[in-house]
Amino acid sequence: MDRQQEFVLRTIEERDIRFVRLWFTDVVGSLKSVALAPAEVEGAFEEGLGFDGSSIEGLSRIYESDMLAQPDPSTFQILPWRGEKEPTSRMFCDILTPDGAPSAADPRNVLKRQLSVAADMGFTCYTHPEIEFYLLKSDSLGDQGAPVPVDQGGYFDHVPGGVGQDFRRRAVTMLESVGISVEFSHHEGGPGQNEIDLRYADALQTADNIMTFRTVIKEVALQQGIYATFMPKPFSDQPGSGMHTHFSLFEGDANAFYEAGQEFQLSTTARQFMAGILRHAPEFTAVTNQFVNSYKRLWGGGEAPSYLSWGHNNRSALLRVPLYKPNKGLSARVEYRGIDSAANPYLSYAVLLGAGLKGIREGYELPPGAEDDVWSLSAAERRAMGHDPLPGSLHDAIRSMEESELVAEILGEQVFENFLRNKRDEWHEYRQNVSPFELNRYLGIL
Ligand code: GLU
Ligand code: MG
Ligand code: MG
Repeated sequence: MDRQQEFVLRTIEERDIRFVRLWFTDVVGSLKSVALAPAEVEGAFEEGLGFDGSSIEGLSRIYESDMLAQPDPSTFQILPWRGEKEPTSRMFCDILTPDGAPSAADPRNVLKRQLSVAADMGFTCYTHPEIEFYLLKSDSLGDQGAPVPVDQGGYFDHVPGGVGQDFRRRAVTMLESVGISVEFSHHEGGPGQNEIDLRYADALQTADNIMTFRTVIKEVALQQGIYATFMPKPFSDQPGSGMHTHFSLFEGDANAFYEAGQEFQLSTTARQFMAGILRHAPEFTAVTNQFVNSYKRLWGGGEAPSYLSWGHNNRSALLRVPLYKPNKGLSARVEYRGIDSAANPYLSYAVLLGAGLKGIREGYELPPGAEDDVWSLSAAERRAMGHDPLPGSLHDAIRSMEESELVAEILGEQVFENFLRNKRDEWHEYRQNVSPFELNRYLGIL
């Protein structure tokens, strides 16, 4: 028993904790939870808790369905929304095979593996997500009509008496009380759309934080009688919900992306990292934009990026180099704007980091940046400048991923296959569906 585990056991006793929830994530990023009696926690630390992996999407093949969930004591947290008396707590788990080895099918393990590749190259990876989501009136969900947003506000709007402000205040307080620091929160561009930006943390902690964030946001919304959705594009004519993520690599205390005197003060390492992401983005877009609906965001305007490009002060760019003060070298970073709010954060950060590291390892050259709005160029101009499109649909994205040695290597064979199987199924179902669009458009005239 190590010190962190002892600390958890002691806290459970002192705080009279009634349930300990063990959390992990399936291949598409759904949170799974099993509640444990306090007396069982010690055993779970030692041997893991057995469960049937074949019932969890993408976790194991039927013939090897026994899996173990082993809680990570560094993630122990009391969950404030369950009340003060006999509180509930949670820990994230690593998934093990019956012989105690880390499971190759566990998304958290996929990210850990990539972080250790980074560590072998001397890097620690920090991330900072900007998470967008919509708040909807709960009672608008059941019927077949369009969902109804809770307000008509826009970007940075202060909506007097609006539920959004109250919601953000409660949500930020709740997030802080589970140890997640919030940097920024505001009303986003769409009606009922909000954004909350988390303070940077190492990539594994960020991914855990995102999973917690989604739960907290949904809980707070429920308490207020509204509904929060991370669906990438709930409204055809309003912006989608992105999860832009800022990346930086540190070597010890030094930001490896910073170099004084260079263009945008970007080091060669940063440029190669960006080049890796740009070159491989079409291959990993199925991961960062994993639903049929994700492509309605990427191709539906509303400041979501559609083409491979990078820029400085350019909202159409897929990768952006944010402004920072010249003496703030530590905050040098690049922002990936492609990823959406419904992505599995473990797998997404693994593929983004892995693509960037490949660019560094192989010394990729960064193509020239785009300071113009890439959408306003003609197709020929874009082609001449190398701004190829991102995949146009989940189907295109699956096709690119299937061909990708890099993504197969980063995810490992099992996750790669399980993920693709899940996505092919989704595409087939979608393709068979006759949508309201088709009925409206064709039935009356054909
Ligand atoms: N909502 C936009 C997106 O889907 C981003 C808006 C912004 O720049 O924050 O990516
Ligand atoms: Mg935003
Ligand atoms: Mg942004």
